[in-house]
Amino acid sequence: MNDAAHYDVVIAGGAAIGAAVAWQLLAVDGGAKKIAVIERDRMFRDASTSRSAASIRQQFSTPENIRLSQYGLEFLAGMAERQSPQADPGLILGGYLILASQTGLAALQDNHRVQTAEGAPIRFLDARALAKSFPWLVCDAIAAGAFGEACEGWFDADALLQFFWRDLRAAGVPLIEAEITAIDTAPGRVTNVRLADGRNIGCGALVNACGPGAGALAALAGRLLPVEPRKRTVFVVDCPAAPDGLPLVADPSGIWVRPEGRYHLAGYSPPAAHDQTADPHDLEPDHGLFEETLWPALAERIPVFETLKVINAWAGHYDFNTLDQNAVIGPDPELPNFIYANGFSGHGLQHAPGVGRAVAEWLTFGAYRSIDLSVFAYDRIAQNRPLIERAVI
Ligand SMILES: Cc1cc2nc3c(=O)[nH]c(=O)nc-3n(C[C@H](O)[C@H](O)[C@H](O)COP(=O)(O)OP(=O)(O)OC[C@H]3O[C@@H](n4cnc5c(N)ncnc54)[C@H](O)[C@@H]3O)c2cc1C
Repeated sequence: MNDAAHYDVVIAGGAAIGAAVAWQLLAVDGGAKKIAVIERDRMFRDASTSRSAASIRQQFSTPENIRLSQYGLEFLAGMAERQSPQADPGLILGGYLILASQTGLAALQDNHRVQTAEGAPIRFLDARALAKSFPWLVCDAIAAGAFGEACEGWFDADALLQFFWRDLRAAGVPLIEAEITAIDTAPGRVTNVRLADGRNIGCGALVNACGPGAGALAALAGRLLPVEPRKRTVFVVDCPAAPDGLPLVADPSGIWVRPEGRYHLAGYSPPAAHDQTADPHDLEPDHGLFEETLWPALAERIPVFETLKVINAWAGHYDFNTLDQNAVIGPDPELPNFIYANGFSGHGLQHAPGVGRAVAEWLTFGAYRSIDLSVFAYDRIAQNRPLIERAVI
């Protein structure tokens, strides 16, 4: 590549969101635009995508998030049919069971109303119905639960990413392995990105798909994006006595658990007051968390987990939007050829196919054609007008 390289669309970050944008651009405009993906690690070792719990649900409070998940589910279900068996995303519809205490009851009810209006088949269960349906659950201090057995579950994040990249490679979309260290602008537009190895790449449009690093990328263009890394540890546990057919259970204490093959995954989201910005290089699992917080709460809710063995653990970073835990999608008002696809706050993997399609439509038609995502526009950041997503796990 020479110094004068120029692409119609440069995508910064090539994991789930960046790859989905590129894949959907090919699908929407038939390859009319010359595109390149710039990614600092072609193995995606530290990307959120590779460290995700890879689950998909329709239990959100923002209608557009529900629609993105519905499209994501359709996309995953269709993947195996669209390509070879190796593209099978391993989708398992195990369901989500989201529990609420008396304090969270009104929010659970409100969310359920929104979900029902969006056609999401979520069952609302009071404490008595919960105890009947899930005899292994201790319902003390639980007021109700919402269960999406037919439309929620988990899948293989790497299979989704490889599915995108197989097609992108076949279509000749370059993955330029380098770190973007500077962004040059002219009045009203981004002109080019500069790479750590000295290369300079011109761009008609620049898409920010940098995950937890999205705030740092925006800062290179002189823009404020309140997206930062927040560390989350996932534990792999062996619990032979765990009930068959356990859904993903999300407890009001902040812990969650779900099956993964013959093991289970478990994690914990801390309350806002204890949730700190993470060092982007710190990917050391928080081992103390298991004994101190996660295990006691898990065993209290589902007592068979009193006996278990921790098999493994890993840490990753949520792409956390500190304003409202919701996505920021669409053009920057000051630099309209700088497009955000960021801030998913722990649910970006399932939304990648739909976000990719929306951004591709925006880049091609200057408007959303399938799912209108204008609620996620950057304007609310500038105006400090949060669009709170209340169902963040
Ligand atoms: C523990 C954990 C559990 C999760 N569970 C779920 C879940 O169950 N369901 C769900 O939907 N989501 C989940 N998520 C969130 C989900 O993984 C992310 O929202 C999603 O993967 C974001 O994808 P992305 O492509 O935007 O970011 P990433 O996957 O982080 O990719 C960003 C890429 O940009 C590259 N990059 C960054 N800066 C630069 C630069 N300056 N130059 C070049 N390249 C750069 C990085 O190397 C990286 O590969 C979870 C996340 C974590 C950490």
